[in-house]
Amino acid sequence: MIRSSVMALVFAAGVSGFGGAAAAQTASGDLEARDLDARIVKLVASVSEERLGAILKKLESFETRNTLSSTSSTTRGIGAARQWIFDQMKSYSPRLQVSFDTYQLPPQGRITRQVELRNVMAILPGRSPRRIYVSGHYDTVARPGGQGAANANGAAPAAAPDPDAPGARPADPSAPLDNLAPGVNDDGSGTALTMELARVFGESGLEFDATLVFMCHAGEEQGLVGARLHAQKAAAEKIPIEAVLNNDIVGGDRGGSGIVDGATIRVYAEGPEDSSSRALARFVQRWGARYVPSHRVRPMARPDRFGRGGDHSAYNQLGFTAVGFRESRENFTRQHDVRDTYEGISLPYLAQNARVNAAAAATLAFAPPPPNVLSERNQPLITRAPSGYDANLKWTASPGATAYRIFWRDAWGPDWQHELLVGHVTNVVLPNMQIDDYVFGVAAVDASGHESFVTAYVTPPRTGTAIKTVGSDQQR
Ligand SMILES: [Zn+2]
Repeated sequence: MIRSSVMALVFAAGVSGFGGAAAAQTASGDLEARDLDARIVKLVASVSEERLGAILKKLESFETRNTLSSTSSTTRGIGAARQWIFDQMKSYSPRLQVSFDTYQLPPQGRITRQVELRNVMAILPGRSPRRIYVSGHYDTVARPGGQGAANANGAAPAAAPDPDAPGARPADPSAPLDNLAPGVNDDGSGTALTMELARVFGESGLEFDATLVFMCHAGEEQGLVGARLHAQKAAAEKIPIEAVLNNDIVGGDRGGSGIVDGATIRVYAEGPEDSSSRALARFVQRWGARYVPSHRVRPMARPDRFGRGGDHSAYNQLGFTAVGFRESRENFTRQHDVRDTYEGISLPYLAQNARVNAAAAATLAFAPPPPNVLSERNQPLITRAPSGYDANLKWTASPGATAYRIFWRDAWGPDWQHELLVGHVTNVVLPNMQIDDYVFGVAAVDASGHESFVTAYVTPPRTGTAIKTVGSDQQR
């Protein structure tokens, strides 16, 4: 369909690189309403504080949602909670395919008894099988002192017994599993956000290119167990998960230190610096700012907070593109504690975070998939041809794209500085731009302006070769 020989030649003004070209725009300052889709504006506006509040109160009423809690009651414990989440999501729209993603687990690690673990997922089928996830974890935990005591006792963050941190100490096999663990913020907030977006997207009647998945994980507090099991299955079955927006502790604007911040949200992204997760975080920042300009996304160039963990990492570790949303100011005394109650939630804040998720997920799901910029031999498709001093960028066409947007920045800095919309081409030459001095990337754009996240041109890692010296008869 697309001729790969088609090439756009862009003329820059003089030796100062690209600064003189009229078509170039500054990425950071480009936040006006242009390119906004009225359908996404409406979707974002459909997020209801009232509904988020009602979900949180109901989740709190189960008293505990510990993955190892009893499942015999219809009103208390994780069995009652997961059935309610299932029934709710099913009630939102006949278009949502709601199911339990179920696993039988023997005792292992912090799973101290045989247990049936169930993630609850709602799928909104798109035209293509590629998947965009919005997720949270509905399980909870509470123990004496909670996270506040763990932080305040001066233990190094990596040694603090955060149950969802990698390498935390195993749970006491005799610990009570049915103790009160309301988990309204951790992670009732991410669960409510995920359920509310399932409703908003399901009721919208919109047809997306990507398949949307609204996923409520279990077993997070035992070591990202539900997320890891699902990601393992997706990797084994080659399910094309394109992006995971995971939300964990996103409902409080009042930090334990007394600082209040209801206007920003952190988005943690696994490196290296031009990984797809970092690209996804930049995407959330860019499109969040356009659709929810009153809320600021703060990308974080690290996997998560010190000594803490979340389900996005389980997807990252299996090669998927995932980021973790975290409230900007945490109150540790309420985490993993009986004090993690409804009183710790700001519904206006949680709703803003839900709107940012909605904007990012909808834009991604309408947009074409991100372009591939690697050759069959996994080399970046960037050269200095034809002059030897140009930036010559090639990529593979994305299905559904009608244009592409080129991004670049100085090779020292986290955020794109410049962008340029090019036509329906798979090759662009930026004359007299030293590819060694900039990072370049390309996003796919459809006829309505929906944009994928950016794929960056990255130098592949090199391995050193051992050098022999005279007299040595074997390689080191
Ligand atoms: Zn959590």
